[in-house]
Formats: sequence, structure tokens, C-alpha cells
Amino acid sequence: MKPKSNIVNLPVYKPGKPIEEVKRELGLSEVIKLASNENPFGSSSKVKAAIEAEIANISIYPDGSATELTADLAARLGVQPNQIIFGCGSDELIALTARAFFVQGDETIMADQTFSVYKSNSDIEGAVSIEVPLKDGTHDLDAMLSKVSPKTKIVWICNPNNPTGTIVSESELTAFLDQVPNDVLVVLDEAYWEYVTDASFPNSIELLKKYNNLLVLRTFSKIYGLASLRIGYGIGHPEVVKLINQVREPFNTSRFAQAAARAALSDQDFVASCREMNREGIQFLQGEFDRLGLTYFPAHGNFIFVDVKEPAMDMFQSLLKKGVIIRAGFHVYPTYIRVTVGSRQQNETFIKALEELI
Ligand SMILES: *Cc1c(COP(=O)(O)O)cnc(C)c1O
Repeated sequence: MKPKSNIVNLPVYKPGKPIEEVKRELGLSEVIKLASNENPFGSSSKVKAAIEAEIANISIYPDGSATELTADLAARLGVQPNQIIFGCGSDELIALTARAFFVQGDETIMADQTFSVYKSNSDIEGAVSIEVPLKDGTHDLDAMLSKVSPKTKIVWICNPNNPTGTIVSESELTAFLDQVPNDVLVVLDEAYWEYVTDASFPNSIELLKKYNNLLVLRTFSKIYGLASLRIGYGIGHPEVVKLINQVREPFNTSRFAQAAARAALSDQDFVASCREMNREGIQFLQGEFDRLGLTYFPAHGNFIFVDVKEPAMDMFQSLLKKGVIIRAGFHVYPTYIRVTVGSRQQNETFIKALEELI
């Protein structure tokens, strides 16, 4: 067979370990997963009813353009419906954007420790990834700008950055957007934006009015708690959205995902309470890390990146044996683990296990 040469040696994405698998392998009855930045408080109670109502239509294809959900979201964000596109998670929108833009030999710029899906999809499409070192765990936009060449098609900015949790401010972002050539697409991944409480965080929807080359990606998987349903969205200039729509599968989001997303959007009280509980969780965890003498990056999402001062993969295994699944294996930060902010009880269980190990 003759597969694309650039995909032959690609690694398969390694997700956080499933709870069931850990219970089975280690014979544990209590296992908590703080590894995939899922919402520890579930989703809005309105979601269940919306999904149940949709069961009557299970044999009917979904609305491929998600018309009603698009209208709801456009009204909420104050943008036009043709500026919005939905994907099977924002992961799919990353893949579709790469598919729509890259040909073999193009260049793309991203941080050296960020969401791995940008690089894997760039690799798949044959683009060359230029990975720019983070500065103090934060995107170094000046250094990224200096790497832009005539071959550059896309710059990826993850804000807050996964896994470090740091943010770039509005002034840093606009300084960058003012200088980057306007035929370079800037993808701003805001998977965690609802969690951010820092006043310097960019109002990206406002920035779309000025910068046609900006594409904002968001998701229902994190604060809305719909990770299993796979639905995310992009907001951009109608021309950019049109291009991505041209490479999209016709029915890429299910009826259930669309109905659940509409219900979830209508319950902003749930979102606000999750944001609040997440802040309390961050305060608690940071206080405990201080007490334990561990350093961490300022956390703006629903996860904290903390230095455990030993090989992180060893700590991963040790915590696993105590029934706590976290994330490790970040090549630039071999002694850091990423832990999702859980419920109060989960956070306490995690700290207790960690303290026994350090
Ligand atoms: C979780 C995550 C996503 C994608 O989530 P989907 O479930 O595919 O919507 C995108 N970007 C970042 C940085 C994430 O952490």
C-alpha cells in the first residue's frame, strides 16, 4: 500500500486513561480522573430533558447546518450566523482548518508546549510545524511573529494555554495581530475562556470586527460539560467560515449534540456557578501547593500545571496506584503534571495522595 508518507510515523493520540480501565487494571474501587479537564459538576440539568425530547427523531439525520443552534449562538455573541461553524468537538475544527488551508511544504507556527492537536493535524496535511518556546509558560508572541515567513499559513494561539494554563492579554494579542500579515490565519483556541476571570483577557469576539484573519475556536466540552457529545464551534470572518464549511462532512454534529448545546447555552447560571466553584478549587489547590513548597503557573482555565520535582511519569504512576489519574508526559516540562480542578472532595483526595508521595 502507499499511504501518505508524512503520516506513516505519526503517533496515535493518547487520551487521559479511562476510569474503568484503571479500576480493572489496579483492582481499585475508588478512582478519580483529573486528567482531561472535564467538568466535575456534570452539565446543566436542562441538557437531559433536551436529549430525551430528541430521541423521537433518532432515525432522522440532523440539520447539517445546525440552524437553530447557530441562531441562538449568533444572538448571544452578537455576530452574524455566517460567522459561525460547528464541529464534532473543536478538535474537528482544528482538523478541518488544517485541511482547508495546508498543502505539502506550508509552514505553521505554534508554541513548543501547547495542545498537541495543532501539530498532529499540520503533520497530516504535510505542513512544517515551527514550534516556538514558551516564555515563562506563556506564548511568546514576539518570537512567534519573528518566525512568520511567506510560507506561513496558520499561527495557533491557545488561550488559556493547555497545559500551562497561562494567558496572553488583549494588548499582547492586538500588538501581534497588528503586525502579522493579514493573509496569515490566526487561530485563537479559547476552549477554556468561560473559566477566565482575569480582566486583561482579550475580548476576541470584539477583535473579529477588526481582524478578518482571526478564527476563534470554542467548545461545549469544558465548562458546559458536554464532552461526550462532541460539539465545538468556530467564529470568524464569513469567508474563512465558508472555506472551512467546504471541507466539512455534511452531518458532523448530531441531533443530540445540537439540542444539548442549545439547552446548555440557555443555562448561564450553571456556567457562572461552575466558574465560581472552579475559582475556589484553584485557590484551594494553589494554597496547598504553596504549603507543600511546589511551584505552578498561574491557572486561568480549569486545570493547574504544577512542578512535582521528580519525573512526572513516575508521579503519574504513583498517583495512579492511589486511584488518582492526572496528566504527565509534557516534553518541555518533564517534572510537571497537569491536574484538572475537581470538586472540593476530589481536590482534597488528590492533595492527600500527592502529599503522601512527595
Ligand atoms: C479540550 C480542548 C479542545 C477540544 O475539545 P473538544 O472536545 O474537541 O471540543 C480544544 N482545545 C484545547 C486547548 C482543549 O484543551
